[in-house]
Amino acid sequence: MSLTEIERLQALLPVWVESSRQLCADGKTASYIPELAKSPLGALGIHIMDAKGHSISAGDAELSFTMQSISKVFSLILALMDNGETIVFDKVGMEPTGDNFNSMLKLELVQPSIPFNPLINAGAIAISSLIAGENPSEKSNRLLEFLRLISNNSKLSYDHDVYRSESDSANLNRSMAYFLKDKGVLNGSVEDVLDVYFRHCSVSVNCADIAQMALVLAYNGKNPLTGEQLIPRRYVQIAKTFMITCGMYNASGEFAIQVGLPAKSGVSGGILSLVPGRYGIGVVGPSLNRKGNSIAGVSLLEILSREFDWSLF
Ligand code: GLN
Repeated sequence: MSLTEIERLQALLPVWVESSRQLCADGKTASYIPELAKSPLGALGIHIMDAKGHSISAGDAELSFTMQSISKVFSLILALMDNGETIVFDKVGMEPTGDNFNSMLKLELVQPSIPFNPLINAGAIAISSLIAGENPSEKSNRLLEFLRLISNNSKLSYDHDVYRSESDSANLNRSMAYFLKDKGVLNGSVEDVLDVYFRHCSVSVNCADIAQMALVLAYNGKNPLTGEQLIPRRYVQIAKTFMITCGMYNASGEFAIQVGLPAKSGVSGGILSLVPGRYGIGVVGPSLNRKGNSIAGVSLLEILSREFDWSLF
């Protein structure tokens, strides 16, 4: 970060957090996973990290939250590392849907019956079945270890209450998974695949963990602090492209216009975003808008992008 940018961020980030926080009252926490409904509605936090390890945070950046759909970026990357592009894109497409993240509509309407992309629920469930491992716990452990590596946090673990709450209430995801099994998209037992999916959605993080993960993507798969190439560049390119076209669900077009950065949100209110070659960003704000994105988190990223001219476009 240039000194002036650090100084401006340090001075203004808390102000922008407080102004965006006002919007929390207009949204709702996710309730279809009962445990997520308990998240603090008025919370908003952010952590920004650069390649030299400088960090700036504001608001409720220490809040723990589950990765939810943010984890789909990394399950996709691990599936690509395990299988290569041909096998992965035989099971999921590369196009946005324009529908809700948990919609089944196009699965039957458009042939072949493969999910449109890996960042909607159906696509991420298909991706979970491609993670290498002898059994669901080996697959989940590999994914957890991968997240620990990328976040540089060996303590990352599951929020067991959220895991159980989702697993007990996931009628829609279950129906989608059984449909995909019937169409030959899923390998192995449906419940085993779902278990891998629910587990990676329930990994507990804070904004610094997400900022560190985003920093690796911002540096094309390299941890800029150690110089270690953790992910092949090509797979980061694929992941970041999906983040632009599908990362904010069916609000990805609007987000591309208003913010113009790769991003992935989750129904816990987390958002992973990045400024390529510069910053990793982790945001949390559990109050969601109607599309399932953090209402105050999106506002905060809009302000930052506008003030620092971060849009890629
Ligand atoms: N675990 C959530 C689900 O499957 C993830 C959805 C999300 O974050 N959009 O519904």
